[in-house]
Amino acid sequence: MTLFEKDGRLDLSRRLFLRGTGGGLLMGSSLGLVGPAFAQGGGAGNLPELPRSRPTGRPIPEMEQEMPMEPGRRLGWAVVGLGKFALNQILPSFAESRSSKLVALVSGNRQKAEQVASRYGVDTHNLYDYQTFDRIADNPDVDVTYIILPNALHAEYTVRSFKAGKHVFCEKPMAVTVEECETMIRAGREADRKLMVAYRAQFEPHNVEAIRRVREGEIGPLHLVTSDHGRILDPKDPADQWRMVKSLAGGGSLYDIGIYSLQAARYLTGEEPVEVFGQISNVKDDPRFREVEDRVAFQLRFPSGAVANLSSSYSTASVKRIQAFGEKGSLILDPGTEYEGNKLTVQSEKGRQEVKVKEQSQFAAEMDHFSQSVMENRNPKTPGEEGLRDVRILQAIYRSAQEAKPVTLDVTASTR
Ligand code: NAD
Repeated sequence: MTLFEKDGRLDLSRRLFLRGTGGGLLMGSSLGLVGPAFAQGGGAGNLPELPRSRPTGRPIPEMEQEMPMEPGRRLGWAVVGLGKFALNQILPSFAESRSSKLVALVSGNRQKAEQVASRYGVDTHNLYDYQTFDRIADNPDVDVTYIILPNALHAEYTVRSFKAGKHVFCEKPMAVTVEECETMIRAGREADRKLMVAYRAQFEPHNVEAIRRVREGEIGPLHLVTSDHGRILDPKDPADQWRMVKSLAGGGSLYDIGIYSLQAARYLTGEEPVEVFGQISNVKDDPRFREVEDRVAFQLRFPSGAVANLSSSYSTASVKRIQAFGEKGSLILDPGTEYEGNKLTVQSEKGRQEVKVKEQSQFAAEMDHFSQSVMENRNPKTPGEEGLRDVRILQAIYRSAQEAKPVTLDVTASTR
């Protein structure tokens, strides 16, 4: 009996699946494990008689999506920072990517780096820590660095990556200050390398579909966007500990998750705000909010007259909701910015409809978009200038809250 047989039938529960670099799945015959269970008749010897309808293979079904590139042609990515988001979301997503492959890791913890390297097939010569990071310049396998560090370290590692001749994909928020964002953009230009901010929602299929429907006028002229992003900040979670420290996080809930509400208002209206108004409130005497803010309620006014009523919170139960209201209908994404399982409902002249949207990894999509942008020398959809615009607006919201009055934004300054 072969490795894959049980009572003369194929034992699917014991089928071997291996994950290789870049996440390709290798199975059975590709491992050279071609035994009688895979062969067409003959050589069965004293094996028990097999059932009549045996799997024989069939032609490749019509491909629904582009085939992945051969591993040798994909761009090599180094993930910088092996924290919660990198380990749980990003590293597994390389398996779904078509033009990006994981080739290097940067971590302050060698043991963790080695364990992760062995799981994802990363060569141990391609492991770096924060001191040896600059040696990445000598590694031709690495084309792109993906910065997944606390916000205050984004600028430093972006600039060091550019100096090493690499392209940079940086987590949100792009950096802590406007000046840092400008330095990052300048460093990219000087090195002639590309910079993209990881705004995954702009690659998430339900959000993409919502934007398409708004642009096509399904809900009529858009007059109002509302969006709320909230969760409980947990001081026991190491990933939340630096988020309570202003010098590492840059800000509180607004910087961390309010940026999703802000992004939604910008990508749904397709406009840049001309005025903001913000109000901040903290749970009284709560040690979590000694340095960073808890809740922010903020409003934006756009040139068309559209307004957005937005919020972020670190002290309310989880919410990730986006709503757009037009003259002819409305559209609800609830949840709208989960890692998966988002939902889009549209209310229009045709009635109320939950839109079926095919799930697709937003992480693989954004990484592949950047790899393609580099390969084809195109500007990415969410370049450094997009991250800078958000940081500029977030800073204006803080100023408005501090001064207790609306702050006017100079839209022409956005991309300078
Ligand atoms: P995390 O704390 O789990 O990961 C941060 C990593 O940086 C850790 O491995 C930590 O060891 C390392 N690190 C290096 N120097 C450090 C220092 N001086 N202080 C603290 N940690 C240091 O945090 P996370 O939740 O993975 O967030 C990392 C980044 O990813 C943040 O910028 C965050 O905004 C972003 N993020 C994005 C999403 C998204 O959906 N796009 C989701 C979560 C986090």
